[in-house]
Amino acid sequence: MITYIDQLDLAEKRVFIRVDFNVPVSGETVTDDTRIRAALPTIRHALAQNARIILASHRGRPKGKADPKYSLKAVGLHLSRLLDNAPIIMPETCVGDAVKKLITDLEPGQLMLLENLRFHPGEEANDPAFAQQLAQQIDVYINDAFGTAHRAHASTEGMAKFVPEKAAGFLMRQEIEFLSRIVAQPEKPFVTILGGAKVADKLGLIENLIGKADKILIGGGMAYTFLKAKGFGVGTSLVDETKLFAAKRILERAEARGITILLPVDHMIAKAPTEDAVVMATGSEEIPPGMMGLDIGPKTFEVFRRALQGAKTIFWNGPMGVFEIPSLAHGTMELAKVIAEIDATTVVGGGDSIAAIVKSGVADKISHLSTGGGASLEFVEGKELPGIKVLHQ
Ligand code: ADP
Ligand code: MG
Repeated sequence: MITYIDQLDLAEKRVFIRVDFNVPVSGETVTDDTRIRAALPTIRHALAQNARIILASHRGRPKGKADPKYSLKAVGLHLSRLLDNAPIIMPETCVGDAVKKLITDLEPGQLMLLENLRFHPGEEANDPAFAQQLAQQIDVYINDAFGTAHRAHASTEGMAKFVPEKAAGFLMRQEIEFLSRIVAQPEKPFVTILGGAKVADKLGLIENLIGKADKILIGGGMAYTFLKAKGFGVGTSLVDETKLFAAKRILERAEARGITILLPVDHMIAKAPTEDAVVMATGSEEIPPGMMGLDIGPKTFEVFRRALQGAKTIFWNGPMGVFEIPSLAHGTMELAKVIAEIDATTVVGGGDSIAAIVKSGVADKISHLSTGGGASLEFVEGKELPGIKVLHQ
């Protein structure tokens, strides 16, 4: 069983909250604060409980060395503004004597933000000595950084073993609850839509979904490896040549188990994905030599739209085309609108997929946008994430 933050008494305790403040910063300005805002419910709860709060995060890839480029200073200032200018103590580092003293002196209701955890090589190495240092004065460990839960690092896994009480934060809880609905007992019919560009990363996901989904719709760049494996001409479309055999095996397994895998039956093609590309529909599966499949065609859209009717659970990862270019965004945008209108639990995961949903204007009609990236995919693949496993009592 996982304990959640609202089940613990935090009053006056030293509460370490691992957040995901890995946000873009330009100069002194946070340019996208989505992740900071996502952590606010957990931080506000701890403040309301009068905890002594120690926030910690990584940012970027400083490779185990202090690098001002990846400092959390601007993040701390931004957070303070979001919390009505609450003062935030920001030490120069995340462990050591000075930090220790600050944590000792921390008063109930006070906030502290440690400097980037990855300034220390012990973080990514999950060095037990470093984990112990982080845990030293801590009474309660809270993990609210779902996006790094698939990594066993000192702050996401190692230190939890050295703290008396541990729990998941609200953001973590939301991710676990919605993604569990997909992997554990999805309400049927369960339809999965897969697309995007990273075929190799997502084959494991398809393998696991074959046992759970009733239908799997494959579009986007991912479709061409499957279509080529079936013997269709795919022109110069995106294909992962090393995965042709694996794709073929997936199609066979699905057929043997009576799971429908739907591939595009027509495409929008062009010579290359450029703003000024001349885009044409193929009318069939075949793509002529020298041309690239860059969006699903109108027939495919209709097939996918029909396949989704009546679904009670929908999981979508990966855009249907190169949606960044308006003339190639149609399939993705229209499918987003279709999903928004269906009375189902709808979960969308993946950085680009979420960007596409936001662009389509229907984000508020989706049950859950899973911001976890790699962590979301691994969860749906059925893997146990170390950052969640360690929270089990
Ligand atoms: P996510 O971030 O949602 O997991 P991916 O990173 O796997 O998704 O894929 C997103 C990218 O896939 C987008 O940049 C999009 O332009 C690209 N893409 C989608 N369809 C195609 C296609 N037919 N050919 C090439 N790239 C594509
Ligand atoms: Mg992506």
